[in-house]
Amino acid sequence: MKFLSAISLLLAGAVWVPVSAQTTFQWPEGKRVAVSLSFDDARESQALNGFDLFARHGAKATFYVNPRSMEKHIEKWKQAAAQGHEIGSHSDTHPCSGNFPFARKNPLEELTLAKLEADLNTADRDLQRLLGLKATTFAYPCGSKFIGRGVNTQSYVPVIARRFRAGRGFRDEAANDPAYVDLAQTLGVDSDGMTFEQMKAAVAKAAQQGGWLVFAGHNIAKPGNQTTEIAVLEEFLRYAKDPANGIWLDTVDAIATYIQKHRTEP
Ligand SMILES: [Zn+2]
Repeated sequence: MKFLSAISLLLAGAVWVPVSAQTTFQWPEGKRVAVSLSFDDARESQALNGFDLFARHGAKATFYVNPRSMEKHIEKWKQAAAQGHEIGSHSDTHPCSGNFPFARKNPLEELTLAKLEADLNTADRDLQRLLGLKATTFAYPCGSKFIGRGVNTQSYVPVIARRFRAGRGFRDEAANDPAYVDLAQTLGVDSDGMTFEQMKAAVAKAAQQGGWLVFAGHNIAKPGNQTTEIAVLEEFLRYAKDPANGIWLDTVDAIATYIQKHRTEP
């Protein structure tokens, strides 16, 4: 009888326990939330303003580069890689939808998977040539994950899943659930134009679920177009470093690697 009631309690539990409560995933050292700061396109402002800022706070970020864009400040980029920042791939030619005028010469709508792989190979070769390293994570240019049109559209997520530990999206609206996330479609939340209060609120929301929030920005500068502000980042880095806030701030690769090692499935 006792045994049966234990079974029925278990069954009742299985019905009532929400999915999030079944997650047993734990961040290291009792941290409540993981956060990555990532920046795309190897913009000049990242080299001129970003690396010093992160050095002042002893923080690491992930930079998704189109390798040839690093050439003008290549010494700074070499130093950034040596200091432990992650240098990820953002492809060679940055293909996006042809609806963007800048992308019309090389639009996703006209690409094939073979051409896309060739583009990724060129980026790999240039990254090896310029920094002597291989990217382990990727950011989808414009956050787009398809090639082709209409009935001939194909996802290129499987290509990224084969080649990289993680692929980061853009302008997604949520943090990642470490026990569930498909790392090839890791969500990325736009940090450009955010205030410190907005960044803090996004982290607090992610912490409620023990999530992994990946910010994705472009310029690191004074307020402007596609810019995560220097002053906002200064304040955010001070906040993220305070042990009272329970934040694990690290690169996309470091956190994705931890997730792969510490979850049972998938
Ligand atoms: Zn980009």
